[in-house]
Amino acid sequence: MRSIGKSLLFFVFILVSLFSFSSCSDNGRKSQNGMNNNKIKIVVSVFPLYDITKQIVKDRADVSVLLPPGVDVHDFEFSAKDVSNIVDADLFLYAGDKCEPWVDRLFKNELEGRSNIIDVTTGLDFIQIGNKVDPHIWLDLQKVRQLMCSILETLCNKDPKNSDFYITNEKCYSDKLESLDEEFKNVADSSRLKKLVFTSRFSANYFVNRYHLQYISAYTSCDDNAEPDAKKISEILNFIKSNKVGSIFYEDGSNLKLANLISGETGAKVLKFNSLHTVDKSGFEDGITYFDLMKENLENLKQGLA
Ligand SMILES: [Zn+2]
Repeated sequence: MRSIGKSLLFFVFILVSLFSFSSCSDNGRKSQNGMNNNKIKIVVSVFPLYDITKQIVKDRADVSVLLPPGVDVHDFEFSAKDVSNIVDADLFLYAGDKCEPWVDRLFKNELEGRSNIIDVTTGLDFIQIGNKVDPHIWLDLQKVRQLMCSILETLCNKDPKNSDFYITNEKCYSDKLESLDEEFKNVADSSRLKKLVFTSRFSANYFVNRYHLQYISAYTSCDDNAEPDAKKISEILNFIKSNKVGSIFYEDGSNLKLANLISGETGAKVLKFNSLHTVDKSGFEDGITYFDLMKENLENLKQGLA
């Protein structure tokens, strides 16, 4: 009797394991009962939203990103074709006018209030720097998990026949992001310095806040174009030398001139910090994900905080 009980338990365990495995690895390619017909059409504004939406819907919805790879959210100007893509979509998901100032101009085109246009940041807390809101909310993994929840809810309402599939996928990716967040926390907590050196435009406020890190930066913000003065540069050089800092950071898409100069002076290694404003065309075509880029940040952070 006892052994039958044991066998039954094992059988149940295998079933559960198999189910769990297929849940998280299901790429959605298998059509079931015509489920892939009549896919909803989703347009998302920026890359981080594109990736998390795609991770939820896999191939059960058509997802396209409005800002082309390589185009920064701060410089984006939409075209008439973009407007018609938004109007034609079942859903247009964007990260609010605080993150995406171009949306204000879009709403002047009388699109505001359309039921297919969804601000997925509603209810999220933003960091305020002076009189400005910091838009780079996607650099906080927990806030990205909240964004996923909000997107999931929208998708389940719009496309209820696929809601179980969406719920499973959302949980898988959200769990992955949660583990990554934990790894970042461990690296930050166990670091000697707890202070990062940035040599280019700076958009990592959410990131450093999340892990209670300090930073010293040559530039004050993402749109700070003023060349850092000699006092600032010498402050950075002194910090690196007196604390024996081995690595300095630059953000993707920014000028490496200052990083190379500081590296030449101090011997510090130059590391990239992916700011996730966008991805380049080849990365996008290769299917690089938000997780991949944050994982790369984790590996560089390990070196940068060593
Ligand atoms: Zn920015």
